Amino acid sequence: MRPLIGILCSTTTTTGSEQVSCPNAYVEAVVDAGGAPLLVPYAHPTEAIDRALEAVAGVLITGGPDVDPVHYGEEPRQALGEVNPHRDDLDRVAMRILNARHDMPVLGICRGIQSMNVFCGGTLIQDIPSQVDGSIKHSQSAPGWHGTHSIDIEPGTVLAETLGQDPLTVNSFHHQAVATPADGFAVSARSRDGVIEAIERSGCSFWVGVQFHPELMVKKQERLAKLFERLVEEAKRRR
Ligand code: MN
Repeated sequence: MRPLIGILCSTTTTTGSEQVSCPNAYVEAVVDAGGAPLLVPYAHPTEAIDRALEAVAGVLITGGPDVDPVHYGEEPRQALGEVNPHRDDLDRVAMRILNARHDMPVLGICRGIQSMNVFCGGTLIQDIPSQVDGSIKHSQSAPGWHGTHSIDIEPGTVLAETLGQDPLTVNSFHHQAVATPADGFAVSARSRDGVIEAIERSGCSFWVGVQFHPELMVKKQERLAKLFERLVEEAKRRR
């Protein structure tokens, strides 16, 4: 039976009203990997979020706007992008719950790796172009299915076990990145300018964050589908 995978959603405001939003590529990637998606939006009171996450066997933290730097003790720099307090609350509550359930497989993508890190106690680079000397282009203009920069995968990590150790060409749609990984997390991949492109929680079967967008590349690069397949496999094992 397909395990339920909770997909944490963002919100967008259109014509004055807030909409729950989730790019379909995440849903398709979870379904193609053998999971059943359960969209989890921000809700208040937040015990509604707790209840939704009790129902799932795995969690996918999707991309979205910048995490408010107040959550890692910094003032906003000029280049900080859009911030969404509801999405921050959703991710904060979710991480609190998941922190107590280490056996739950978690995959964080783009903003997902960032909020995973922040709400476990780590920090971010607010803006790569203005803060990292000699940084490469992490905001590509090419289509999402096309990889534009290399990453090197750390041997012996869960990421290496899942995707293999060979360098990978990934897409890149971020101006922020993990600065200091949270306690208990290890770096599992970097781009050639040293920017952190993946982290994972030590001692967990699968708790991985990636800075790229595998959901946009899976149809062209089967190797990346393994991230979603592993998430679903680990979720099945829990039930
Ligand atoms: Mn990148």
